[in-house]
Amino acid sequence: MQLERFIRDIPDFPKEGIVFKDITPLLADADALRASVEQMAEQVKDLNPDVLLGIESRGFLFGAALAVNMGLGLLIARKPGKLPYEKDSVSYDLEYGSATLELHVDAVKKGQRVLIIDDLLATGGTAAATAKLVEKQGGQVAGFAFVIELGFLEGRNKLTPHPVKYLLKY
Ligand code: AMP
Repeated sequence: MQLERFIRDIPDFPKEGIVFKDITPLLADADALRASVEQMAEQVKDLNPDVLLGIESRGFLFGAALAVNMGLGLLIARKPGKLPYEKDSVSYDLEYGSATLELHVDAVKKGQRVLIIDDLLATGGTAAATAKLVEKQGGQVAGFAFVIELGFLEGRNKLTPHPVKYLLKY
């Protein structure tokens, strides 16, 4: 299935010079959504994760679908002020601006293999920051999986030595 057909380029969003990769057409199409989740599951099964971790907010969509497909649970890293319980937090730079992510202090169990999920890898700042949260809590990063990798930004360099999987690369 040609998943590229379901990614819409939006120039100059949310800032001039950024080409935003809009995944909403892919989410809206039953066959494309199922194919993308099944392909992601196939790509990551050798990483043997114990649990998935979705990054707010589009990482939640693929994270939840993939978790059900793989028979695993889902942890969520959220933007500040959203999680109700005690949390760890990390701040980082991204392609447009800077940001903070939070994770409940008891989210990751010691030694757990955590697979980190988001819709898109750009500079890698978001995913690398999430990996720090996992490691801070005593987890192991099993790898990362994205629907889209913007290869020209070389974000995967920030994620070494962990495996990085993707469905579409630009
Ligand atoms: P980064 O930390 O630079 O890898 O940015 C990744 C995060 O920002 C992901 O959560 C993406 O959803 C979002 N993002 C960054 N750049 C884009 C883009 N060009 N199109 C869509 N989402 C983007």
